[in-house]
Formats: sequence, structure tokens, C-alpha cells
Amino acid sequence: MPIAATTPPSETVIEAFRTEFRGDVLVSTDDGYDEARSIWNAVIDKAPAVVVRPLGASDVMTAIAFAHEHDLEIAVRGGGHNVAGNAVCDGGLMIDCSAMRSVRVDPKAKTAWIEPGALLHDVDVETQAHGLVLPGGFVSSTGIAGLTLGGGFGYLSRAFGLTVDNLRSVELVTADGRFVTASEDENPDLFWALRGGGGNFGVVTAFEFDLHELESTVLAGPIAYDFADAPAVMREVATAVREAPDEVACLMAIRKAPPAPFLPEEVHGELVLMVVVMYAGSVEAGEKALAPIRGIGSPIVDAVGPKPYATFQTMFDAATDAGARNYWKAHYLSEMSGEAIDAMCDYAITIVSPETTIGMMALGGEISRRPAGSTPYQHRDAEWVVNVQSRWREAAEDDVHIAWARDLFDALTPHATGGTYVNFISHDEGEQRIHDAFGTDAYERLVAVKAEWDPENVFHLNQNVRPAV
Ligand code: FAD
Repeated sequence: MPIAATTPPSETVIEAFRTEFRGDVLVSTDDGYDEARSIWNAVIDKAPAVVVRPLGASDVMTAIAFAHEHDLEIAVRGGGHNVAGNAVCDGGLMIDCSAMRSVRVDPKAKTAWIEPGALLHDVDVETQAHGLVLPGGFVSSTGIAGLTLGGGFGYLSRAFGLTVDNLRSVELVTADGRFVTASEDENPDLFWALRGGGGNFGVVTAFEFDLHELESTVLAGPIAYDFADAPAVMREVATAVREAPDEVACLMAIRKAPPAPFLPEEVHGELVLMVVVMYAGSVEAGEKALAPIRGIGSPIVDAVGPKPYATFQTMFDAATDAGARNYWKAHYLSEMSGEAIDAMCDYAITIVSPETTIGMMALGGEISRRPAGSTPYQHRDAEWVVNVQSRWREAAEDDVHIAWARDLFDALTPHATGGTYVNFISHDEGEQRIHDAFGTDAYERLVAVKAEWDPENVFHLNQNVRPAV
């Protein structure tokens, strides 16, 4: 692991570097530097010595060689959304992939090559232009790179699997500056590790995916319930989702109602349960498949209707925009038990921040049909993932909101599997949580792959898998 340089590279060194690097090279005195070092989670405030924005794989190779030459730690940024904030570092080199954002679709082969700076919205728009989709996440401003490298689940995952389940190949630059391809046929161990093992193995310069057909209009939207009804409704929704076809996507969220136009004004600021559904198929088939969920209880509002898939994907973008302070803790649930529901409802009444959410995403379907060891992404048999998402604005309130998330997490622990999702781990959760994400077998296999491809742990600013000694 390189020792962080005590002095940043001199102006002369930076000027020389600029002549060989095609993209932007920014240091603290440059316009745009502060914007470049800012990431989604405002809790993370770090100042790299140098930020580079590569325009292609050769720039990434140049950047890695520069970091080695000047003993700079390397942080890699895709979409900058990760809550742990490893996309930025203090005093090192930040490789910001945001200028590499192309999405090239082959409609005949139903595949796409996607660069690591692309956001999910870029992917949705380009693929939907051909009536195709890639399963991504629930928020369209998330980066494809970090999402894919950790697994990736969203509205389409019960129907078409995780984002990594649709990965065909990856191009990346390794710790020693080599450009390599990984697929089932080429460097298969590396390819396995990239399907959930995070940013441990190199800087990805392109992902190749299989795509699926989906008409542009889907039946989708939120259903809101009075919080008093939440325990009963959540139980019924869990049963209905278990019996639903794979095309039915569902997430639940408990939060104070935002001032969204679809919600009546009198509930704004009050605790509500939101049940958000989508059917990954025709609107007609969706009417039938979503009816059992839409028939549950007496909602305040049912805003489910036909809408463009790519627009629906942006529904949570405003509520989760960059710049707020965030702290997450996540559990997998083998089932949505009554005890887990009661714990969430008990803690919900103590929520103080208007932006905090207890998010529950239904898994299962195609995710659960892949063999457990097929990817480093584990916990395929979990029916739900719960993400306790504290979100607030003032640094002075950090302790209160972080403590609230930890307390609810602890209350849920007896009802959870013990595992977690690598992409939902916060900055201070420690090494054990990384083990919990992978489990012993996958972790040991990742360690062996890491030892082969990054024996010096050059890429350690991530949910780090240390190479075997
Ligand atoms: P970044 O912070 O840029 O990257 C995260 C890490 O990935 C980096 O620290 C680095 O280690 C690695 N990395 C990034 N780019 C590269 C690269 N080119 N090469 C090698 N390593 C790289 N996840 C889901 O699965 N489903 C969801 O529905 C979902 N919803 C979310 C909603 C919000 C509002 C947020 C903030 C996150 C959500 N996530 C979801 C989690 C998300 O998948 C992770 O935060 C993911 O890491 C984000 O990727 P990014 O590229 O934007 O992040």
C-alpha cells in the first residue's frame, strides 16, 4: 500500500503531467477543484492533492503511473454516490471518471458498452431509445460503476437479476498499469471478483452488459398510507410480494411525507408509509399483477398509473439529491417478519429529520435463482433488504442522526440475516461489516484474486479486501 505523500506534487510536476494527460488535471488553486472533490454525501469532506478526469483508458494508465511515481493514494469516483465516500481522498490522487460517460447500445445484439462515469439515467435513456433496459437501482443519479461493482438491484432485478448478473465483460486498468479484459472466457477469476467485490481490482474503463426488452410505458407509482396503518399494511404487502410474479417490483418507505404534488397537503410533514410498485411488462398485465397489492388497506392516495419507465426511474432523484449529510446502516431480512415490522414502526415515531427514511426493497425472483457462489454478491435468498437512511443538513446534528440509525439497526439485528450489502456500508462500520457482506467463502476467494491482481493493495480506498500475505 503506498504511503500517502507528505508534500503534494510541485507546480512544475503538475504542469508536466498536464502535457501528457488528455483530460482535466485540477489542484486546489484551480477553478472547479471544489466541485470536483464534492461527492453525494456531505459528511465526507476530503481534499485530494490532485483530481484527474480521464478521457479514456490511456489517461487512466497515465494517472496510475503518476500516482505510483509520487506516492499518492488513489481514490476512484464513478457517480460519486457511495455513502462511505471512498471516491475522494485526503492528499492523494482522485481519478474522477465523470468525463467518460458514453453508453453505446447494440440493438441487434441487445448489449451495451457503458463507460464508468455514466449515471443510471444515461443508461435508461440510451437503452430505452431501443426498447431495451439494464436492471439498475432505484435512483437514476446513481453511478453505474459503483452500483455494478457492488451488485446493483432496482425495479427490474426480480425480473432480470442484479446489474452484475447481466455483466458480459469488463475492461480495466490494473494496479500495475496494464489494460486487461475480464469475462467468463478471459481472466474468469477476475471477472468473478468484479461482480460484487467492489473497486478492489482496478479502474474500470468500460462495462459490457446484456440488455432486456421493456416497452417504454410501464404501470408504476407510489401508494401512500397513514402511518397508523403501517404495521398491518406492511405485513400484507410482504405476503402479496411473495406471491407476486417476478415482474412485480416493490419497495416500502417510512418517512415524513415530503411536499410532493401527489400527496394531499394535510399529510405533508406527517409520518407515512409509501409502497412503491412497478410491473416490468405490459400495462395490461401490470393491472392484473399489481391488483393484490393495490387492494391492500385504505390508502391516502394511489398514484399508480402508466408512465415512461425512464421518467419513473427519476422519482426519488430530488428527495435524494447530492449535498445533504447521510448515514446508512443496512440489513438483509430472510423474510419481512412481524418483529422486524414492529421494530421499524417503533423507531419511526422517533424520526426527527424530515428527510430520514426507513427503506425496504423487495428482492427474490431472478436474484434468488442464481447459485450462491456465482458472484461475490451474496445473500441471494433474502426476501428484503432494509436500509436505515438518516439524512439531515447541519453538521452540528451529526451525532443525533447517526445514533438514531445505529439504534434502529441494533433493534433489527435479532430479526436479520447478519449480512449486509457492500454498497450500503457507511464510512465507519469497520472490517467485520465487509466480511458480513461477502461471507467467509466469497471473502477468501476475493482475497486470493486480490493477491493476484493487486498484491500491494494499491486500490484500498474502497470496502477493502486485503490481499493474502
Ligand atoms: P462512487 O462513490 O463514485 O463509487 C463507489 C466506489 O466504487 C468507489 O469508492 C470505488 O471504490 C468504486 N468505483 C467507482 N468507479 C470505479 C471505477 N471506474 N473503477 C473501479 N472502481 C470504481 N444501490 C443499489 O444496488 N440499488 C439502489 O437502488 C441504490 N440506490 C441508491 C440511492 C442513492 C440515493 C444512493 C446514494 C445510493 C444508492 N445505491 C443503490 C448504492 C449505490 O449502488 C452505491 O452507492 C454505489 O457505490 C454508487 O456508485 P457510484 O459510482 O455513484 O459511487
